[in-house]
Amino acid sequence: MKNTTVLISGASIAGPALAYWLERYGCTVTIVEKAPALRPGGQAVDFKGETHMKVLARMGILDEVRRRQTGGHDTTFIDADGRPQAVMPGEFTGGEIEIGRGDVAALLYERTAARCEYVFGDSITSLTETASGVHVTFERGAPRTFDLVVGADGIHSNVRRLAFGPEEDYVRFLGHYYALADASAPGAPAQSVMYNEPGRMVSLWGNKARAFFVFASEQLQYDRWDTDQQKRLLARAYEGARWRVPEIIAAASGAPEFYLDSISRVEIDHYAKGRVVLLGDAAYGNTLGGFGTGLAIVGAYVLAGELAAAGGDHRVGFRRYEEEFRGYAKISRKGNAGPFLAPPTQGRIRMRNQMFKRSLLLKSMLWMTDRFATNIDLKDYPAPAGRPHGPAPARG
Ligand SMILES: Cc1cc2nc3c(=O)[nH]c(=O)nc-3n(C[C@H](O)[C@H](O)[C@H](O)COP(=O)(O)OP(=O)(O)OC[C@H]3O[C@@H](n4cnc5c(N)ncnc54)[C@H](O)[C@@H]3O)c2cc1C
Repeated sequence: MKNTTVLISGASIAGPALAYWLERYGCTVTIVEKAPALRPGGQAVDFKGETHMKVLARMGILDEVRRRQTGGHDTTFIDADGRPQAVMPGEFTGGEIEIGRGDVAALLYERTAARCEYVFGDSITSLTETASGVHVTFERGAPRTFDLVVGADGIHSNVRRLAFGPEEDYVRFLGHYYALADASAPGAPAQSVMYNEPGRMVSLWGNKARAFFVFASEQLQYDRWDTDQQKRLLARAYEGARWRVPEIIAAASGAPEFYLDSISRVEIDHYAKGRVVLLGDAAYGNTLGGFGTGLAIVGAYVLAGELAAAGGDHRVGFRRYEEEFRGYAKISRKGNAGPFLAPPTQGRIRMRNQMFKRSLLLKSMLWMTDRFATNIDLKDYPAPAGRPHGPAPARG
């Protein structure tokens, strides 16, 4: 295989999943991550249907994913006095397997850390393509040259900005923000509950005490790496809210684990430009759509497999990855979870709640999402050498 030195930007889900496959195909893989360490946290993510299961099994991690799963849970919609209005069944938000995002990231890191080079606390500052490679400069590290560069750095991808152009050209803001905090509000109910006011929502995941917020907003200007500033934005968005919101906001403001982002969608015509290619949310992200992690895992399998099948020829491999994958990823072009989670009026909140009393409607929605999750004919790519890697001691 040619083109065997690969730089991946982003160590969350897509990056380490691709690193896993490329290393097994004989590549030398470096992963650069802007955060100082692997980022924990995030909502539970789900895997469903035979496509996801097949890829997880081929990576040799299906059993471990099952072992670490949290299981789905019902969520009760409540009013300002805490009275139940309707119940959203766990199967609606979860899949066949529900597992913490941070647990999937940790598992993929464990399977790759000993055989790939992880560089934390750094970021690419420029990419210059030559006939034989890509010259890369970094914020902190010395410049290096790689055969290929992969942007697996999320919906606000740095690689996409450097290689394709500014974020505004590719990311559409969908009118809402969401935030997650590992926050125990005193006396939090044991079950998962969700409270709505027009254009804003707060949910507590029972005794896991994760607070989850979705609110409608104009586009905000803020520093994505400054969580204190983001906590202040959140507090402002929930001023005057009823139920237990003031105490939950106070707990979130002191939470060590905190994550806030816009609900946005990536719209890009091609995933690759020369020797640079995008994977996961950087290429087809739709925040809170519920598909991001499955798309990242399956996308990594297809991208690595097509590259290997093309003997490392990036022109052929990248083109086939896109041809194979674009249809599957079209789910990310649809839907906006914002108005569903934080309906704009009391009437819409009632309508949303009523929906969960109609089992036929619910079943047909679940059937649709299952179909999207399996809407690809997964190829059998060249078998990598050796057996799937088990956990191995990290290089540090
Ligand atoms: C901490 C965290 C919490 C999340 N919580 C949720 C959630 O609750 N709900 C939800 O729907 N999705 C969440 N996501 C996104 C979710 O993980 C993705 O939708 C999906 O799993 C696809 O993963 P990805 O690897 O493509 O992108 P992401 O998971 O977004 O990962 C991108 C990675 O790139 C890194 N990165 C960003 N900029 C740079 C840079 N300049 N240089 C190097 N690395 C960079 C990020 O730190 C991150 O580790 C979360 C992501 C993270 C990182």
